[in-house]
Formats: sequence, C-alpha cells, structure tokens
Amino acid sequence: MKNKMLKQLTEIVGKKNVSADKIDLLHYAYDATQSTYLPDFVVFPENTEQISHLLELCTEYRMPVVPRGAGTGFSGGSLPISGGVCLSMEKMNRILEIDTENLTACVEAGVINYDLQQEAERLGLFYPPDPSSYKYCTVGGNVAENAGGPRAVKYGVTKNYVLGMELVFPTGEIVISGSKNMKDVAGYNLKDLMIGSEGTLAVITKLFLKLIPLPPYRSVLQAIFSDMREAARTVSSIIANRIIPSALEFIDGPCIRAVEDYLHIGLPEEAQAMLIIECDGRKESVEAELSLIEEVCKKNNAQYVKMAKDKEEEEFLWRARRSISPSLNRIRDGKLNEDVVVPRASLPEMIESTQRISKKYNLPIVNFGHAGDGNIHTNIMFKKKSEEEKRARDAMREIFETVIRMGGSISGEHGIGITKQDFLEKQLGKESIEIFRKIKRALDPNNILNPHKMKL
Ligand SMILES: Cc1cc2nc3c(=O)[nH]c(=O)nc-3n(C[C@H](O)[C@H](O)[C@H](O)COP(=O)(O)OP(=O)(O)OC[C@H]3O[C@@H](n4cnc5c(N)ncnc54)[C@H](O)[C@@H]3O)c2cc1C
Repeated sequence: MKNKMLKQLTEIVGKKNVSADKIDLLHYAYDATQSTYLPDFVVFPENTEQISHLLELCTEYRMPVVPRGAGTGFSGGSLPISGGVCLSMEKMNRILEIDTENLTACVEAGVINYDLQQEAERLGLFYPPDPSSYKYCTVGGNVAENAGGPRAVKYGVTKNYVLGMELVFPTGEIVISGSKNMKDVAGYNLKDLMIGSEGTLAVITKLFLKLIPLPPYRSVLQAIFSDMREAARTVSSIIANRIIPSALEFIDGPCIRAVEDYLHIGLPEEAQAMLIIECDGRKESVEAELSLIEEVCKKNNAQYVKMAKDKEEEEFLWRARRSISPSLNRIRDGKLNEDVVVPRASLPEMIESTQRISKKYNLPIVNFGHAGDGNIHTNIMFKKKSEEEKRARDAMREIFETVIRMGGSISGEHGIGITKQDFLEKQLGKESIEIFRKIKRALDPNNILNPHKMKL
C-alpha cells in the first residue's frame, strides 16, 4: 500500500516534491518540543489545487495529514504522532502582493514572518506580529497558533491582522473566507474559527493581512531590580499609568545569570529581575513616554535604568532577551517551557507562586516573557532521564492549577497541541471540549487532519 500511495502522491505533487526516504522523514519528525515522530511521507505542495487533491487522496486511504510550517511550535502541533503525511508549506512561500494603497498584504501561508516584515518595512509599512522565532516561523503557522510576540502588548496578536484566508478542508473543498476588505461580514466567520485551530480543521494556503504605517521612531530602556516583585509591580504600574509600550518584557534573576554565563556581556549577576521596555511612535511622544516609564521604574525601586542612546545600544539591550532560549541549557538539559497568562495586575502573585513551587519541588524555575500581556514563559528545568523529570511534570501541573485559579490561561500563545491537552478540560470544562469535537467531526468527518491533538 505504501508504494501505491507514494506513486499517487507523486502524481499529485511531482517526483521532486515527495519523499519517503528515512533521512528526509527525520528532518520533518520534530518541533521545538524536542519530541520525535516519523511521518510516512513528506510532501511539498506548490499550489492550493495540489493540496486539495492530496487531501482527497488521504481521505480515501484514511491517512493522517499534518500541516507543517517551520516546525518551531512549542506544543507538538506539527508532530506526526500517528504517522501519515507531513504536509510541508515551505514551497508555498511567495509574497503575492503588498497593496500600498489599501495597506494590505496577500501571502502564501509558507512565507517566513521576517520576510513579510522586511518587505513591508521596505515600503514604509508595518506587520507587527513578531514571535521571537520570527526569522524562521511561517505566517501560516502563526495564524494556526494565533502567535503573539513582544509587540503584542501594544499591537495585538496575529488574529488582529488577519482579514481573510484561502482554506482547503480535509475533504478537499477550497474555500475563501474574508477578503482584503477591512470589513466583511458576509456569512459565518470561518476565518476566525481557523485562527488558533492548530492545523486540525483545514489547511491554510493563502492569507490577506492588514498592514499599518511604520512607526517613525522607537527607543528602548532597560531597568534592573534587586527584588523581583518590584519589577512585576512596575509592569502593572506602567499599564496603570495609561502607558502602553510597544514591548514590555520581563526576565528574572536565574535567567539573567544564565544569559550572562552564555554571553558575558556584563549583566549584573546579583540582580533579581530586568525589564526591557520599548516605545514607538513620534520621537517627542516616545521620549516623553520613556521618561515617565523611567520615573515609574525608579518609584518602584529599580536599581538602575539605562536608556539606549543609539541603534547599537538598542540591539545590545535586546540581545539578552533574544539569547534566553539557548542559554537556559546551562541550568539543566531538560525544560518544560510553558506560556501561562494571567490578568496583568496579577503578575506579581503569579511569579511568587512559581517561586514557591520551585522550592516545593526543589527544581529551578525561570520566568521571562511578555509581561506587558501578563504572559510569562515559565520554564521548569530538569535533568533529562532522571527522577527530576517526574517532579517537573508535577510542578507543571501545580502551575497550571494555580494559573486557572487566578482566572488565567494555560496558554497565551504556544497553543495546546499534545503537550497541554490533558489540562484543557480543567480550564474550559467538559462542555467546551464536546463542542470542539462536534466542530471537528463536522469539518473533518474522517478525522484525518492532524488527529489526536487538542483533546479532539
Ligand atoms: C525560540 C522560539 C521562540 C518563540 N517565541 C514565540 C513567541 O514569542 N510567540 C509565540 O506565539 N510563539 C513563539 N514560539 C512558538 C512558535 O514559533 C510559534 O507557535 C509559530 O507560530 C509556529 O510557526 P511554524 O511555522 O513554525 O509552525 P509549526 O510549528 O510548523 O506548526 C504549528 C501548528 O500550526 C499548524 N500549521 C502550520 N502551518 C499551517 C497551515 N498552513 N495551515 C494549517 N495549519 C498549519 C501545524 O499543524 C501545527 O499545529 C517560539 C518558538 C521558538 C522555537
């Protein structure tokens, strides 16, 4: 059957766009969770019609199909856990149009986020969604996860920029939902149902996106604290002072030390927290906002505050934040990287809870992330293949329970996939999961598209 299927897949996408070779399959067997599941085939469609034929074929064989952008997901969404076809979007990577009159873009779903940002900026326009993986991840993957990023605090997340999309449903129908119009309420709003659906309901092939004018000026400030709670309080005070920076990122003490150990750039190793705060807009208003933010930091006992003087210093201040992921390996070789979110004013309480849980389970827990959204990446560090692994999972469960009790969510941006599916019902209740399953059955009656994810 495998040979027959390979032959039919080849007829649809061409010989160069399909492989069942083990080495190729290994390249598409992982994502950022570091788990590995081999697909049976990997295909690289070049257009929407090929995807439609491919889904019809897989329906006939009841063969799982897993859409894949760049595989940077943190929740296992693109892992082929039941084998089947890995549908890589990497060849559908064209920016089809940047409309400078209507301020919209039309792109294929495999376009890299950074490429779109660069092209928009070249024309004086701005596509704000900026997951920290923006140099690698695809816009289709961003829509499927409703990705955010540092700028979400001011500009919102991916969903705020999606005007319309072309979709292929698991039974092969090609549908366009929405358009490049700023307003469009004709019919059910399928596009919004697809945002954050993690590749379980349809394959997104094309996107109509909103662009905005590029802010003329931006500047960055770094504040260091000897008490983590004062840093967390500063975040809520900035927002309470009616200032919305374009980024408001938090890094805790253990993270600062891990980054310093990795980069040796002179970060204060005794510090307990650091905030990186960026404002953008007209120069005068950016300067006024940053000087008010400086005051708020000082009122909350910041040890020192440093304002970037030029682009080079800005880049330097951001470097620590961008180097967190690789530097954490110095603490332990294993990590559970969660992205919990709480109402912004509850941030100090939430960080204190993770410190208590860290002590209780005797494991390092480091916190960093998009504090301005109340969205913190809580990393529980453990030694792989040791008894620490079980303790880390117990600590994770307790963090999720705490966050749900505080009215927060188990995921602000990474999605559910396989890593958090056991906790979804706890947050949303049985009834919600049952409704999700009804939607899944209606759109994917043979359960071939990314099956067994999100508790579906
Ligand atoms: C270092 C690092 C930093 C990160 N920082 C952030 C961050 O700041 N904010 C954030 O939100 N995330 C972040 N992430 C997570 C990740 O980059 C995002 O979830 C991103 O949106 C995934 O895009 P991708 O193209 O890699 O998708 P993949 O990982 O390939 O897929 C993710 C999900 O989308 C589905 N999918 C992909 N393409 C399609 C399509 N065309 N149609 C239908 N379904 C599709 C897949 O089936 C899967 O379920 C980070 C990851 C890393 C490794």
